[in-house]
Amino acid sequence: TKVLLTGGSGFIAAHILDQLLKKGHSIVTTVRSEEKAKKIREAYPDKTQDQLAIVIVPDIAQPGAFDEAVKIPGLEVVLHTASPFHFKAKDPKTELIDPAVNGTTGILKAIVKSAPSVRRVVITSSFAAIMDEAHLSDPNVTYTEKSWNPVTIDEIHRSPATAYRASKTLAEKAAWEFVNNKANGAKFDLVTVNPPIVFGPVIHYLSSLESINTSNERLVQLAQGHWKNGAPPSPGAYLYVDVRDVAAAHIKGGLEIPEAGGHRLFTTAGYYSNKEIADIVRKNFPEYSDRLPAEDNHAGALPPKDQRYGFDNSETKKLLGIEWITLEKSITDTIKSLKALGA
Ligand code: NDP
Repeated sequence: TKVLLTGGSGFIAAHILDQLLKKGHSIVTTVRSEEKAKKIREAYPDKTQDQLAIVIVPDIAQPGAFDEAVKIPGLEVVLHTASPFHFKAKDPKTELIDPAVNGTTGILKAIVKSAPSVRRVVITSSFAAIMDEAHLSDPNVTYTEKSWNPVTIDEIHRSPATAYRASKTLAEKAAWEFVNNKANGAKFDLVTVNPPIVFGPVIHYLSSLESINTSNERLVQLAQGHWKNGAPPSPGAYLYVDVRDVAAAHIKGGLEIPEAGGHRLFTTAGYYSNKEIADIVRKNFPEYSDRLPAEDNHAGALPPKDQRYGFDNSETKKLLGIEWITLEKSITDTIKSLKALGA
């Protein structure tokens, strides 16, 4: 199948690219710079231009950013993963909201205009578009594929996390509105993938400890001894999934499961806590023991059931049939990959 993958240099996208190539699909991926294009090309020296082509799209916030990139003969599936994920924005509107929302509506418009053969678009959304900050310790709330974060654009100055969550929520909303409004002329259907925090091994040719992706940052900090006096709390972030499962969900949802059309895929393996992460590293990497909190230090533990939200992703589990990677495997493989980068 001919696939367009945006943001091919990203943590999640690099796994999608790898899995797609292993399955024999033909891919065009976009990156922001020639420097990143070169790294990807060098990682797959045996691939022909037809198997793997790389197009530079410098800034997805710009109108028409994808107009040329989507002009691919026979293009069937688009996986749109590119979107800023960091908590460093000085101006959340231009640095987070615009690239997230304009990037999403921009690629949908470009497909309608110039890529009539596309039958399905998958957008990487997030649990950030499902959860509600006001109910993170509310045991009466159960998040499902139908839940929506009520955040609005007026709240983006509350905190960097709120701004990021708003960017994902507004972008996903814009996508569903676009395909549901017949006047826009979309001939494809939509799937979103909504993962909570994603752990898992980094793809080495793209990564360094200094520029590690946001969701693995805490594991670099742990490996560098910053958790010695106790694992940090992670308010609200109690669900996780492994990057290899997220990549597989994009491919199943985009290419392999026709019935996924119109669905939000709430990909999570379940609850985790920073305390459990520290325990897994202590067990499997004795060489890190002097950098870790003591076993009886309960900082960063999961709040009891009556002090956290519930979740139910049975619809997604039924559709995808993925055996989720366990926290122990996910963390162990991540730490191995960080060690290879010098952690
Ligand atoms: P990364 O930061 O590794 O990937 C983000 C990707 O988006 C990179 O390819 C980045 O390019 C690209 N990008 C960001 N801003 C722009 C822009 N203005 N113009 C062009 N490209 C841009 O993070 P992840 O792989 O984790 O994130 C991928 C997707 O998954 C995002 O949509 C994110 O919101 C979503 N997600 C991630 C979760 C996680 O825990 N990791 C959880 C839920 C959702 P470059 O490499 O050049 O920086």
